Amino acid sequence: MKKRLLIGLILLFTATLFLSACGNTETEDASEGKTETNEGKEESDVVNLYTSRHYDSDNELFSAFTEKTGIKVNVVQGESDQLIERLNREGETTKADLFFTADAGRLYRAKEAGLLQSIDSTIINENIPDKLRDADNQWFGLTKRARVIVYAKDRVDESELSTYEALTDEKWEDRVLIRSSENIYNQSLLASFIELNGSEDAKSWANGIVENMAREPQGGDRDQAKAIAAGEGDIAVVNTYYFGNMLNSADPEEVKVAEQLSLFFPNQETTGTHVNISGLGVTKHAKNKENAIKLIEFLSSEEAQVRFAEANYEYPVNPNAKTSELLQSWGEFKEQDINLTKLGENNAEAVMIFNEVGWK
Ligand code: FE
Repeated sequence: MKKRLLIGLILLFTATLFLSACGNTETEDASEGKTETNEGKEESDVVNLYTSRHYDSDNELFSAFTEKTGIKVNVVQGESDQLIERLNREGETTKADLFFTADAGRLYRAKEAGLLQSIDSTIINENIPDKLRDADNQWFGLTKRARVIVYAKDRVDESELSTYEALTDEKWEDRVLIRSSENIYNQSLLASFIELNGSEDAKSWANGIVENMAREPQGGDRDQAKAIAAGEGDIAVVNTYYFGNMLNSADPEEVKVAEQLSLFFPNQETTGTHVNISGLGVTKHAKNKENAIKLIEFLSSEEAQVRFAEANYEYPVNPNAKTSELLQSWGEFKEQDINLTKLGENNAEAVMIFNEVGWK
């Protein structure tokens, strides 16, 4: 009997320890190793966010949200795929209420892994257009970017450019710069072509680009722009915000590179320029679901959208929010007309095509 009592006490002690650990709303800032606690805060006054973004302006917006609602935003920063991994590992015990990352293809992955849940909010649905959110409302775009062509002003005339497809033309042999197919942005780009033009056309496009590559894919979007300035090639495919960031960079070398380039929105007479989003979803096991919804409602509001998009030279998703001056100077453009859920649905096929055509 005594032995049983002892075991019982040990179990009770362990359970108490476990519960107190779970009840502690402690989160860490993975990028800086900071630890923040919310002692004295009720669980109902917080929302916990896992994010791959790293902008001061995001934190300023979270502060504005806290001021407005009394809800504190705890931020854990990390690399996208590691955060997905972590959500998977933590399962029901996760403290994350929201997961925020770049690219619809990646958000689709989180959804497919069962990490997100559907949200029904009239405010969100009014703020964010249909095609920029998941078909089941499991994730929502918050900022928009276009994948465009940049070109060497001194070697290419704008009149030579038209579509993504035209980049496979013989005249661009050894002149095209584009990053690896392992990158989600290129996977989503090809996924959009599968949707709009069919698998066969998408494959011959990928094949044609491989044939015209100035070099084997290496580096990120900024590196493609730098390679143009270095004379390795004449045109590159990059996301708009990289170009915006380079033009406004604190690094004078990046500014110098960007100033030699011009931006072109392809496919304006045909299917439109490829757009993607960075966005977020409420986690499957969110403990503060209502607060998470309130934060999305706030971040998608007209007032927040302006600052939110500007922080990274992106476009707001809320059509009522004004675009920044730089982006306005690039002019309006026609976007691909597809629901971004398709980028996720076609991702596996896109990856297969890249492998088949030997796009490194
Ligand atoms: Fe990026």
